[in-house]
Order: sequence, then structure tokens, then C-alpha cells
Amino acid sequence: MKNIVLFGPPGAGKGTQAEVLKEKYQLVHISTGDVFRYNIKNETELGALAKSYMDKGHLVPDEVTIKMLNAEVEKNPEANGFIFDGFPRTEAQAEALSELMDEKGSQINAMVALEVDDEVLVGRLIERGKSSGRADDANEEVIRERIAEYYRKTDILKSYYQAQDKYYGVDGVGSIEEITERLSEVFDRI
Ligand code: ADP
Repeated sequence: MKNIVLFGPPGAGKGTQAEVLKEKYQLVHISTGDVFRYNIKNETELGALAKSYMDKGHLVPDEVTIKMLNAEVEKNPEANGFIFDGFPRTEAQAEALSELMDEKGSQINAMVALEVDDEVLVGRLIERGKSSGRADDANEEVIRERIAEYYRKTDILKSYYQAQDKYYGVDGVGSIEEITERLSEVFDRI
């Protein structure tokens, strides 16, 4: 199994790249943001809870997110491996993911991080907000709060995976194809 955490701040391009890479490497793509949005659209209890945090640019509580992620993984018993996009975002989530992989007799092979400057991120998210219909992209204050939340809780995961020799940083600025190429070089090595 090849299990990869695709990492980076909001707007780094994780979702776009995961869509391409899942086909190329025959992996199951799990995006926690997409699962939350699906629940919001279908007006589930989980959706209502997630929305109250997402609208403010905050992270959804760990307990809820971890439970949901476990369920998504369990839905794919035949998977060749996973691309995790938007998870883990806290140290508690990283620990939970490690336990889940252990239970499967597997592990996270790598964290591959897209590196993009903050001001480029804000610009991309404002631009995406014009057409995505995503509430959290429509307001610059919420966008900046998401980036702040990233530095408060998520950025630290780089050192978590670096300590296990599993961190790979990739320049996230360029054309979609160029970035796929850079990511593929890492995917091929691990
Ligand atoms: P982006 O990376 O552009 O912020 P996502 O679609 O990954 O977009 O996530 C949107 C929102 O969903 C986040 O701002 C957060 O509120 C919530 N979310 C997604 N993944 C997680 C997670 N692992 N833990 C907590 N909240 C999450």
C-alpha cells in the first residue's frame, strides 16, 4: 500500500493535484473538506456541526473529524492506498491516522507538501471564491483566518513527519502540469 498525506496551507492546490494523482497511481482520494461539504449539502447533523466551524475559518473538532476519516477509510477495504487531502491537520489527527494505519498493517509512507507563499494563497482563494460557491472562499477575513489556523495548529505537522524522515517539500507555484510532474517525482520514489 502507498499512503500519502498531501499537505499544504489552504489554497496550495491539494485538491487539484489529488484528482490527477489518484488516477495516475490508482489510489483512493479522501478529502475531509469535500466530505464536510457533502454533508452540509445533504443537511446532515455532521454537516450542520462542521458548517458552524468552517464558516468562521476554524477547524472542525478533532473527535468529529477523526471519526469521519476512519469511516471513509473503512468504506474502501480494497484500496491500493490512499491520498489524504486535508487530513491530518492537528497532531491528534496525525496520531489517530498512524493508529488507523497500524491496525491495517500499513503506514503513512510520506507527507508531500505543496509550498506556496501566503499572499499567493490569499489571491488564489479570493479568485476561487468568485466561482467555487464555497462560503469560506467568499470573504477575505475568513480566508486569512484559515491561514492563521493553519499556522496555529497544522504547520507543526511538518516536523512531526520530518522526525520520521517522511517529509517531502515541493514548490507549489507553477502550472498544474509542472506541479504534477514535481509531485510525481516524489510519488515514484516512495
Ligand atoms: P482548504 O484547504 O482550502 O481550507 P478544505 O476543503 O480542505 O479547504 O477544508 C475546508 C474546511 O473544512 C477547513 O477550513 C476546516 O474548517 C474543515 N476541515 C477540513 N479538514 C479538516 C480537518 N482535518 N480537521 C478539522 N477541520 C477540517
